[in-house]
Amino acid sequence: MMAQLIDGKQLSAQVLQEVASEVERLKAEHDIVPTLAVVLVGEDPASQVYVRNKVKRATETGMGSIEHRLDAECTQGTLNQLIDVLNDDPQVHGILVQLPLPSHLNEEEVIAAISPAKDVDGFHPLNVGALASGTASLVPCTPQGCMIMLRQVHPDLTGKNVVVVGRSNIVGKPMAALLLQEDCTVTIAHSRTKNIESLCRNADIVVAAAGRAELINADWIRPGATVIDVGINAIDVDGKRKLVGDVAFESVSRIAGAITPVPGGVGPMTIACLLLNTTRAARRQLA
Ligand code: NAD
Repeated sequence: MMAQLIDGKQLSAQVLQEVASEVERLKAEHDIVPTLAVVLVGEDPASQVYVRNKVKRATETGMGSIEHRLDAECTQGTLNQLIDVLNDDPQVHGILVQLPLPSHLNEEEVIAAISPAKDVDGFHPLNVGALASGTASLVPCTPQGCMIMLRQVHPDLTGKNVVVVGRSNIVGKPMAALLLQEDCTVTIAHSRTKNIESLCRNADIVVAAAGRAELINADWIRPGATVIDVGINAIDVDGKRKLVGDVAFESVSRIAGAITPVPGGVGPMTIACLLLNTTRAARRQLA
């Protein structure tokens, strides 16, 4: 039997609808337009596409969006100065600096410079600490989107055995923290993990965030398990560029109980959660 498809396009449309309603309420009740400022440094084509999509979706919800473009050679001082201005601007509720930055810029310094209250990516050390201690208000967007998708299949995640493949600060680690909060038993696997296939085969849920095209095949998955595929990898098929996940979708979807597609899975949920975070940040800044 084919796995249930967890449709990120459909689910993100629902989240965006909730965001649009909250934007309306904030306008009507408090006379504020929740506004997201996006900072893009350089000309990286993938980053340009991501920024364009974020700004487009923000506008569609009725939110304000401001785009700042700095050239690839800009100094750390110039970037930090811009962040200071955005931190102090009461019309800006969320700040996102598109990563990766050109190699001469220090990402950690940039992330730490953003006001934690406006850190809609949830990457600031204070927000990371709050997530670890279970008190976070701004949670990284991709894992947050994955949790919404998981709840479609598992309204109660208590006691589920979950393997998260990948331990990055933006996906793997916050994903594990969120699952732990839901009383899952979490294993974080990574490039140095031994017997990774058998670990995954024992899991009720596998979250794949390794950035390796079609790494996970049907042999890794227990029949009926839920598979969340975060990976976005461009591969060449007969001279054409194709986007695939970290999961071999065709074979795994024959054995899994539920699965997210790529594209149309976690990607749209990430943007929806970014805008959800922006409305949350705006509401908290009212206090
Ligand atoms: P990353 O490169 O920072 O981290 C990858 C992690 O995977 C590392 O911890 C590494 O140890 C682990 N890993 C690498 N090879 C492995 C292997 N063979 N076996 C087991 N573990 C392995 O990547 P990231 O930023 O966490 O992103 C992961 C993937 O998710 C990428 O494909 C990225 O494009 C995608 N992504 C998608 C979204 C989205 O919105 N859908 C958002 C962020 C990242």
